[in-house]
Amino acid sequence: MKIILLGAPGSGKGTLAKNIVKDFSLAHISTGDMFRECVKSGSELGNKVKSIMDSGALVPDEVTIEIVKDRLSKDDCKNGFILDGFPRTIKQAEALEKISQIDTVILVDLSKEEIIERLSARRTCLKCGSTFNKNDVPNGKCLNCESELIQRDDDKPLTISNRLEVYEKNTAPLINFYSDRLVKFSSAGTPEETYRPVKAFLKKLEA
Ligand code: AMP
Repeated sequence: MKIILLGAPGSGKGTLAKNIVKDFSLAHISTGDMFRECVKSGSELGNKVKSIMDSGALVPDEVTIEIVKDRLSKDDCKNGFILDGFPRTIKQAEALEKISQIDTVILVDLSKEEIIERLSARRTCLKCGSTFNKNDVPNGKCLNCESELIQRDDDKPLTISNRLEVYEKNTAPLINFYSDRLVKFSSAGTPEETYRPVKAFLKKLEA
């Protein structure tokens, strides 16, 4: 299966993807995670990417498409993959059409108010990348590996509103682009509640 998770930042794509790959043998490809790794490496590209990410803007299409193309050519993608955070523009979607045939696009749906609330309260583990609501981790430590949790620079209020504007302008048009393969699931419940109907849908698709 080749799947795209589409949805605004903070809608729960990453959490859903992590649940999916526990049950289905798919490579999880998160462009946000790939760019954060790139920033950590301190390379020239990493430094450029950091200032773009901190502002809430998108990394240029050419750079993003090249990175994804290279990633999709790896062996672990042969049995299928789940794209989390890519494509984010029509240009990226058009490039992807030339690289691979996507089976289904899952739209992760959440109200803007809930997104702002979740992103503002999100804390991310510096080491393993797990995310938590700050109210669930009073000691500020990761529940998986006990490392320090931080608020991502792009989860701060000004950047959140910019990211949501960027989503509306550049990424929301993909809903139309993929109208022939799109299924919508609400992520308003807990991660488990969100995942249950998605799992049932993917099991059917797999059969
Ligand atoms: P995410 O963790 O998916 O919210 O991504 C964090 C940031 O990485 C975004 O705000 C962008 O700056 C950058 N990014 C991630 N995926 C893409 C993409 N497909 N195209 C352009 N920029 C991206």
